[in-house]
Amino acid sequence: MAKICLCLTGKTIQRNLEILNKYRKFADLTELRVDCLDPDERLYIRRFPELAGMPVILTIRRDIDGGCFAGGEGARVRLLARGLAYANDDSRHNFAYVDIEDDFKVPSLEEAARTFGTRIIRSCHNLQGVPDDIHEKIKSMQRGGDEIVKIAVAVKTTSDVVKVYQASKACKSKDKIFICMGHYGIYSRILAERFGSMLTYSSALSETEMPGASGQIDVRELSELYRFTKITKKTKVYGVVGNPLKTTVSPWFFNTVFGLENYDAVYVPFPTNSINDFFHLAKEFDVQGLSITVPYKEAVLSELHDCSAAVQSIGACNTMYPRTEGWFGENTDCTGFSDSLLAFINRKHLKHLKISIIGAGGVARAVAAEIYKLGGKAVILNRTVHKAKSIASQYKFHWAGLDIQGIEIMSKYNDIIIQASPVGMEGYDDSNSNDPLTMYSFTGREVVMDLIYTPPLSPFLKRAAAAGCKTINGYDMVIRQARLQYACFTGHEIPSQLLTWVNSTGDNTWNKIRTG
Ligand code: NAP
Repeated sequence: MAKICLCLTGKTIQRNLEILNKYRKFADLTELRVDCLDPDERLYIRRFPELAGMPVILTIRRDIDGGCFAGGEGARVRLLARGLAYANDDSRHNFAYVDIEDDFKVPSLEEAARTFGTRIIRSCHNLQGVPDDIHEKIKSMQRGGDEIVKIAVAVKTTSDVVKVYQASKACKSKDKIFICMGHYGIYSRILAERFGSMLTYSSALSETEMPGASGQIDVRELSELYRFTKITKKTKVYGVVGNPLKTTVSPWFFNTVFGLENYDAVYVPFPTNSINDFFHLAKEFDVQGLSITVPYKEAVLSELHDCSAAVQSIGACNTMYPRTEGWFGENTDCTGFSDSLLAFINRKHLKHLKISIIGAGGVARAVAAEIYKLGGKAVILNRTVHKAKSIASQYKFHWAGLDIQGIEIMSKYNDIIIQASPVGMEGYDDSNSNDPLTMYSFTGREVVMDLIYTPPLSPFLKRAAAAGCKTINGYDMVIRQARLQYACFTGHEIPSQLLTWVNSTGDNTWNKIRTG
């Protein structure tokens, strides 16, 4: 089973020990990043394994490989020698591993490491992307003996992740480490076991100024939320696909419920820039269920073998799970949305209500279908007008752009306003403004629902609340639709006492996780 390695990037030995002692229960081993230590502190690294009381990797990462060591190679060799010197008969007092690069050639030092039982991690870091000759490179690194091959690549796309995964599959070394650094590689760290890696690197993100590398996950989150050390070949893999995927609540919700139910499953964020490349990996990982979010709810339709009547009529899918013949598509946004809105306004239908929908993407399709079903009348306003028209014509609704004309119609359709664009969502940077409709002045009589839930109060919702409107964000909806997804994925409902717990603690727990 893969292990968790806690990277220590503090400036002093003392600080590293403080962090280690606070987080040691979440890690199996630790890495002392000597390159991050203040120069004076580097004199005292030899005693670190004894002080740490767990297996330690000795690493002096060069700046060209993404580390902090800017000195010459001679100075680095002397430091490595200092770390490996005076080997103790009790191997727990020696470094358990030393990370040295593929182009490092100091046979005497390597020999000393081997003699005293310090295993060599033969590493290759590439911050530019996947090297064209990755397979040849790996072959040249497999020098036999007890060495561990380590490949760490800064991936720029999902296609890069696929290449690294394939390289790992082709590498026959018993012990190996393959890591995709950066945003698109986050799941290579959680699914290290599927990637064939013997360990994953993580950091205590709330404590350190600098994670060990880009894309590392907080060690507590990896251990407690993702239950990393329990992930085996039998563990079922679920996840959420989207981009940028920085603020989704779904991993927290599903992993919490899986844990409480003792269900052997993990739910992983799958940020992707290419849905086709992602589905290649989904097959490899035998993914058993997917939530689909911005901007892929329409793009995944071509991947479906079959779908529900809701997906068929709405033309957007937010839930996928495999059946014998292929992927089945469902849409849980519809019921999640209408249940949340009706509960909020304490009604059973939307008859005699005039409603504005901002946005004409995947979720707006579900919103429009439900408003129609519940007897409401609506106008759809969107940046790209023809998309608003295409949805609106299906239900005999009005449509308009996000402009003066749109505002005029909106002021007649303002019993309820549904904000269904990502403008204002944390991490969404496709806009000059974080309010999709600054031109609209709230009267204070509108009910306003913003489907965004991070931040809990979007600028749009804040403005509505300040004008006296009754407001609700998308948190209640996301939990309601996730509950339906859970039933699709597992074939059974979440027990009601679990749901009560999730609902009562959710906002706080989620915000705590997010802010560390
Ligand atoms: P989507 O399919 O990508 O659609 C995005 C929509 O927003 C499009 O109509 C797009 O207009 C519009 N838009 C994007 N950037 C814009 C900008 N800068 N200015 C004006 N309009 C812009 O996304 P989605 O899946 O429908 O999701 C939309 C939002 O709803 C997201 O924030 C998502 O998190 C939230 N959501 C919440 C829940 C929940 O349960 N609470 C569920 C689903 C979605 P164009 O057509 O012109 O590109």
